[in-house]
Amino acid sequence: MAENNASAAISQHLNLNVRGLSLSATLAINERSAQLRKEGKKIYKFGLGQSPFPVPPSVEEALKSNAHQKDYLPVKGLPELCDAVAGYHNRTQFLDYSGEDIMIAPGSKELMFLLQLVYYGDLVVPTPSWVSYAPQAHIVGRHVRWLKTKAENGWRLEPDELEKLCKVDPDRPRILILNYPSNPTGYTLSPGQLEAIADVARKYNCVILSDEIYGELHHDTGHVSIARDYPEGTIISSGLSKWCGAGGWRLGTFAFPPSLKKLQQAMSVAASETFTSTCAPIQYAAVRAFNGGIDIEEYLWHSRLVLKALSAKIVRMMDEAGIEIGEAEGGFYLFPDFSKWRETLAGRGIETSEKLCERILEETGVALLPGSFFGRPEDELTARMAYVDFDGSRALAACKGLSPGQTPDDRFLEKHCAHLLEGVEKLCDWTTG
Ligand code: GLU
Repeated sequence: MAENNASAAISQHLNLNVRGLSLSATLAINERSAQLRKEGKKIYKFGLGQSPFPVPPSVEEALKSNAHQKDYLPVKGLPELCDAVAGYHNRTQFLDYSGEDIMIAPGSKELMFLLQLVYYGDLVVPTPSWVSYAPQAHIVGRHVRWLKTKAENGWRLEPDELEKLCKVDPDRPRILILNYPSNPTGYTLSPGQLEAIADVARKYNCVILSDEIYGELHHDTGHVSIARDYPEGTIISSGLSKWCGAGGWRLGTFAFPPSLKKLQQAMSVAASETFTSTCAPIQYAAVRAFNGGIDIEEYLWHSRLVLKALSAKIVRMMDEAGIEIGEAEGGFYLFPDFSKWRETLAGRGIETSEKLCERILEETGVALLPGSFFGRPEDELTARMAYVDFDGSRALAACKGLSPGQTPDDRFLEKHCAHLLEGVEKLCDWTTG
């Protein structure tokens, strides 16, 4: 009894610094889906955005042969890996980095957090944006400014919105986060759109954090970095999680321009006092990934073909069910809008995206994330679907086996992504009643 009282007292005196936040939505839905599956329910895991594909064999081999690497590595990252990451950006985007400009961490999420910690300024994010940018800002006490976008424009940031915000207080320090191909919409920004945004950012000295973690998964190999237009003010964020199928390896990268050296140094100080350095064997293996090669190109080529075909198929199915949705241009997310069904859904007691996703999960087993978690208004009936619940190894092998010029068709998808398509069908049936 005395022990219980003591526990209650100590618990009451805890003063926590997460400002009322809960476990990150992407991770919470994953844990909930896994639990429901364990309980024997049929669950369609469209919640967490995890690559369905395996790590390329040559990268996995590199990890095995570096298992003995046990020493702490430099805070900024293994020099050989920093050179490989610089080379990767230079090769793929015609940029001009050296290894000195690179920083490695256990996930790009960690780097983003350190950036917000050391940089005194507002965080500016278009809505919708990934679930963790704003909570990170809240934890470290930064202001978040959401920029409006329009559904009819694919929720892409328009330069005027940035201009409107910046001109009110032109000298205020700001970080703008741009993520393209986008999580959650799957859309990307064209070179012209990037150039126009870069012009406004330069006018107001905004730092751009360009989150290009899905760049290699542009379905038509057309990814362009805004660092080409605004090299002096852009930090490129990337990592192994999405294009290399290695989310659980936790390896993220930042590429800084020389003009932001001080920022990079400040982040290194914070890193040295927190995570010290990134897991050594993973860094050695990442050298293989970032140096690239024919096998990695082939792996990416087939990954993109499967993702593109799946996106097209899901969009056709949802379109027929009267759910508004646009095809993904990159990555593995879709952002359906159930607004056309608003009245019927209201009749079923559903008026917010959170309620919508809750009921869909309960009644169909399909796990989605509500649009409101991505900064959209609570009563907008949008949701994010990560279309990743299929066996990526099987699909990749089958795609490699297609004849030259052939792309995955409906039969291919029905054979290799049957569970996923069943989930989409259930979702459509549930919507149309
Ligand atoms: N980026 C992934 C997502 O949006 C998962 C990783 C994470 O949130 O930490 O689902």
